[in-house]
Amino acid sequence: MLFRQALRTKPSKLTAVMTAAALAIAPMSSALAQQKGPPTLRDAETEQLLREYTRPILRAAKLEKQNIQVVIINDSAFNAFVADGRRIFVNYGAIMQSETPNQIIGVLAHETGHLAGGHLAKLREQLAQAQTQMIIAMLLGAGAMVAGARSGNANNGLANAGAAAVAGPQEMIRRTLISYQRQQEENADRAGVKFLTATGQSAKGMYDTFKRFTNDSLFAARGSDPYLMSHPMPSERVAALEEIAHSNPYWDKKDDPALQLRHDMVRAKVSAFMERQDTVYRRYPLSNDSLPARYAHAIATYRHGDLRSALAQIDALIQTQPSNPYFFELRGQALLEGGKPAEAIAPLRKAVTLSNNSPLIEMLLGQALVATDNKAYTEEAITILRAAVARESEAPLGYTQLAMAYGRKGDYAQADLASAQAAFLRGDNKTARELASRAKTRFAVGTPGWVKADDIVAAKPLPGQSSN
Ligand SMILES: [Zn+2]
Repeated sequence: MLFRQALRTKPSKLTAVMTAAALAIAPMSSALAQQKGPPTLRDAETEQLLREYTRPILRAAKLEKQNIQVVIINDSAFNAFVADGRRIFVNYGAIMQSETPNQIIGVLAHETGHLAGGHLAKLREQLAQAQTQMIIAMLLGAGAMVAGARSGNANNGLANAGAAAVAGPQEMIRRTLISYQRQQEENADRAGVKFLTATGQSAKGMYDTFKRFTNDSLFAARGSDPYLMSHPMPSERVAALEEIAHSNPYWDKKDDPALQLRHDMVRAKVSAFMERQDTVYRRYPLSNDSLPARYAHAIATYRHGDLRSALAQIDALIQTQPSNPYFFELRGQALLEGGKPAEAIAPLRKAVTLSNNSPLIEMLLGQALVATDNKAYTEEAITILRAAVARESEAPLGYTQLAMAYGRKGDYAQADLASAQAAFLRGDNKTARELASRAKTRFAVGTPGWVKADDIVAAKPLPGQSSN
């Protein structure tokens, strides 16, 4: 679990406008704007499960070749949305609050409906027709705010300017677009149910989730629910959905128990990593000896400092499921963070093998190899980390560890380049440019390393990021 890793999204200018358009009528949750820590969460187990949930839906939507990714946002509120053509964003709160795989799969099917319908592009056309100075100002403002929040730097000046620009015309644009958006939501519902039916899955989870958010529900009463704002649920929409959903022949089909268990394991993990200790033990009291509860207990124990007890609990989990890669990953991570990197190597190697070379776990293994301070591991660390960043290019951890490994080897050109790449992914353009400039002086002109460094020096900052 790399729940402290940021993923830097790299929206084009167009994407920033698209995002702004989506958020114009769907203000971002205040939690996202004000949160501390990285905007996204990275975890091999959770991402693998979400990939498996999404893959058949994307195939049914004929989007399987688009390389669409599900990005987990560090936000405890229920929300899911699409902001560009290639990512579905899901708050960890939506995973936590979905009691069954089928419920979150229904949400993913609905979002896939937006993607398949090209709704973002259509919304943009609609905006083009409705253009006013105000809307433009609002879009630019929201774009800056989004970029600021995405870079994990919600306090930068432009982000704040964005927030201010958004407040005024929001109501106006909301009215301009609301009828159009309603149509989009119904279309996405219809497409979502179609994808569920095509893949032999129940539409009940989708219906139950949306019904929960009906405009006259508890959530609406709170008035600021982000999902409700991005997905207005007037009772007509829910009624329409009920009719469509009931045409789904798999309504009564239950989730496979093995899948339900994996879902429950992920929810337990997210709780144990993200929530306060007392909350974790309230959800999973010590009297609960189910596998998910024991998972949550083991994680909470290691996070709160009792390594020896945590390891005993993890070993008991491994006995129950000896080929679960994530138990070995947890054992390795607990040892690594507990200051025992040499002992972390064996379980992390096992986790890499069992997970079919998950790049995020490879990064942890690389980190453990580097952290031993044993030069005998340097070449292996470089090989593993290079393989990992080649397949997972958006997690800064891989490059940070690669920089350390190269530094140990005395290859300062590669070390500077990897540090520059890590800084770039964290959204720290100033440091990235400085390191890349220095790397350029160390590489021979025109070599692949020099070219990569040159790309970073020349990279334009994202809108909303300071350009200094
Ligand atoms: Zn929607």
